[in-house]
Amino acid sequence: MNGGRVAVVTGGNRGIGRAIAGALADDGFAVVVTARDPATLADTVAEIEKAGGTAVPLACDVRDEASVAAMAAEAAGLGPVHTVVANAGIAGPTAPLHEIGLDAWRDCLATDLDGVFLTFRAFVPGLVERGEGSLIAVSSMTGKRPLHGRTPYAAAKMGVIGLVRTLAVELGPHNVRVNAVCPGAVAGPRIDDVIRKQATARGVSEEEALRAFTEASPLGRLVEPVEVARACAFLASDGAAAITGEDLNATAGVVMY
Ligand code: NDP
Repeated sequence: MNGGRVAVVTGGNRGIGRAIAGALADDGFAVVVTARDPATLADTVAEIEKAGGTAVPLACDVRDEASVAAMAAEAAGLGPVHTVVANAGIAGPTAPLHEIGLDAWRDCLATDLDGVFLTFRAFVPGLVERGEGSLIAVSSMTGKRPLHGRTPYAAAKMGVIGLVRTLAVELGPHNVRVNAVCPGAVAGPRIDDVIRKQATARGVSEEEALRAFTEASPLGRLVEPVEVARACAFLASDGAAAITGEDLNATAGVVMY
C-alpha cells in the first residue's frame, strides 16, 4: 500500500501533524515531516523509524514562499510526492472582533490560510505532471460553525474550505484530489490552552468551557490526534479515489454538516 510514494506533512513535529505523519508512514508512505526548526522533528522521525517506516525531516516555514518552495523541491527529490497534508496552523487570538488588532488578524491568516495556499501551490505542478495525488488541508470545525472570540481563526479555516473546493474543481481533470479534514476539539496541550482562553473570555470555569466541547458531542468526548490522522490517511489512500472537494469532520459528532 503506497510503497514508493512520498507524503509531506507540514507541522509534523508535534500534536496532530505528528500523528498524521505516523499514520501515513504506517500506510507505506515515505514521509517528509516539516516544521520551522528541524531539530524539533527528531522525535517524530525516530518514532516512525522505530515502527519500521521511513521519514525525512525538512525545515519549512509555511508563511515564507521561498522556504516552502525549497522544501517542495527537496521533497520532490526524494521520490514521487503523492500526498501533501497542509496541517501547520496556529490558534490566533481569542477576543471580541473589535479588540483584535490588524497585526494579530493578519498573523493568524498568514499561517492558517496563506500557509495552505503556499504549500499546495508548491506541489500542484508535480502532481499534475504525474496525473495523480491527494492534497489534504487540516481545517477545523470552527471553519463550519462559530466559536466565540475566534473570528480570524474561523475566517482562515472557512477560507481553507473554499480553497479546497475550488482547487478540487481545478485539479479534478488531472486526477488530483483535494480535501479538508475538520477536527473538533482534539485532546492535547493546544486545546487545554483554547479552553483556558475560552473560560477567561466567557467568564466561566475551565471545567465549564471544557463541558461546552464534550457536551456538544454525541460521543461525549474530545477527539484523539490519531483519529484525525486516520481520516487524513483515508483521504490519502486509493480507497478515497472518488472523494474530492470534501470537508470531512472528525469532531466526535459535534458538527454533522
Ligand atoms: P500544535 O500547536 O500542537 O502544532 C502546530 C504545528 O504547526 C506545529 O508543528 C508547528 O510547528 C506548526 N507551525 C505553526 N506555524 C508554522 C509555520 N509558520 N511554519 C511551519 N509550521 C508551523 O497544533 P495542533 O496539532 O493542535 O494543530 C494542528 C492543526 O490542526 C492546525 O492547523 C490546527 O488549526 C488544526 N486543528 C486543531 C485542533 C485542536 O483541537 N488541536 C482542532 C481543529 C483544528 P513549529 O511551530 O515548531 O514550526
